[in-house]
Amino acid sequence: MRFDSVPMPQAVQARPRDTRGYPVPAITPWTGEEPQFALTDYGRSADCARGRLCSVCNVLMPKGPVWRVVGATESAAIAEALAEGRPYRNMAPTLEGPGHRACMLYASMVCPYLARPNARRGLSADGSSELTAHVVRGAARGGTGAVVGFADYEFGITASQVLFRFLDVVEFLPHAAADEHLAELEAELAQRQPR
Ligand SMILES: [Zn+2]
Repeated sequence: MRFDSVPMPQAVQARPRDTRGYPVPAITPWTGEEPQFALTDYGRSADCARGRLCSVCNVLMPKGPVWRVVGATESAAIAEALAEGRPYRNMAPTLEGPGHRACMLYASMVCPYLARPNARRGLSADGSSELTAHVVRGAARGGTGAVVGFADYEFGITASQVLFRFLDVVEFLPHAAADEHLAELEAELAQRQPR
């Protein structure tokens, strides 16, 4: 969806914009005036990890659950785990940090690198764009991705990467199309942001 057809969380409104007016996530590197939306900046991501800052809006995340957008592979794995009543563990760490619920609902609809299953960042936990039989089978339940709440997360900062691991799914909102979370985002914003 076009970013200006989705209501923008207040903290996202404060982000710098690219030339189209598109808000630039906190962890996105810049080359001069050009944000590199497909990439994750090491230093910015490390700052977010150390400060418990949202990877979209760069504002402190309160204690409690955190959210992220996952692709089709991980969404299917979570759906399977939940259906079987076993805990899901993101054993393969990912470069993608957590964020606020509203920020991740927003990002799931407007960020092409999150919303399109084949446009994922190359080094994420489910960076493969090949549709294996496993993914196709799980896709009916897992959709093309999901906004997922986790009770907790851990991070590790290596010399070249900031890696995140997420623990205990507390909310699972799979989507098949990019605009599916619009009502959820509107409800979230109405609850948290008095107009
Ligand atoms: Zn945020």
